Amino acid sequence: MDYMIRATAAEGQIRAFAATTKELVEVARAAHNTSPVATAALGRTLTGTAMLGIMMKGDRDVLTVQIKGDGPIMGITATADAKGHVKGFVGQPEVLLHANAKGKLDVGGAVGRGYMRVIKDLGLKEPYTGEVELQTGEIAEDFTYYLTLSEQVPSAVGLGVLMNKENTVRRAGGFILQLMPGVKEEVVDALEQKLAGVNSVTSMLDAGDTPEMILERLLGDFGLEILDTIPVSFVCNCSKDRMAKALMAIGRKELESIVADGHSEELRCHFCNSSYIFEAEELAELLRIVSA
Ligand code: ZN
Repeated sequence: MDYMIRATAAEGQIRAFAATTKELVEVARAAHNTSPVATAALGRTLTGTAMLGIMMKGDRDVLTVQIKGDGPIMGITATADAKGHVKGFVGQPEVLLHANAKGKLDVGGAVGRGYMRVIKDLGLKEPYTGEVELQTGEIAEDFTYYLTLSEQVPSAVGLGVLMNKENTVRRAGGFILQLMPGVKEEVVDALEQKLAGVNSVTSMLDAGDTPEMILERLLGDFGLEILDTIPVSFVCNCSKDRMAKALMAIGRKELESIVADGHSEELRCHFCNSSYIFEAEELAELLRIVSA
């Protein structure tokens, strides 16, 4: 079962999140039939986005992360709410690349150069939008840079996805550590030393570490206190009704030409790849509603 934990340490001077996301990344991989490098890129993004999601307060708050680079994956999009639901997709799920210089899946090469945008719909008039340049395209560094620069909360982010030989997901997860306002200099120094000395998130996941164990390794010396545990899963809220609304929104002229073709129309949800078929009569009915 996938879940995230929320924690604090150093008497509230550090806040932390950690997640295990193997199941949901596997759901995403199977839905989109992603290549290994695309699975890693999407899985890291889904994990980071899910953790950003639970930082929001409101039941109806929604957060979207868009990674737009010039690499062959043609961008990554993920959306999460504050309740542990996340969904996402990549532009080109079949992208194949050689391993990078470290022998790892070349996520940075797949993403390329560009920017990361975070859009938060917090039920206010205007959504909040923050945008930063991609640092490496390896995703974790880009989340770190976004949180530190755009949200101005100094952060450390680790995200990892490990694959089985047959390219299914073996492990996925990550963490976010954040320094709260008023943090003491000695806490910052001690944490920096700690981070420099611990294994990468990939090795921790490889060793089978749970989110609790990951935070214990990172913050065990800082009086780690786990506050709550939140189940996390890949959930898409698409439906035929929503697809019908999308069809009606393309405009009357467009819809008229589709109806004039006399064929049925298949629509696919970007986020979960579910297919919805609209028969010719259903399309004609939508056109009647739009024209009324
Ligand atoms: Zn969907």
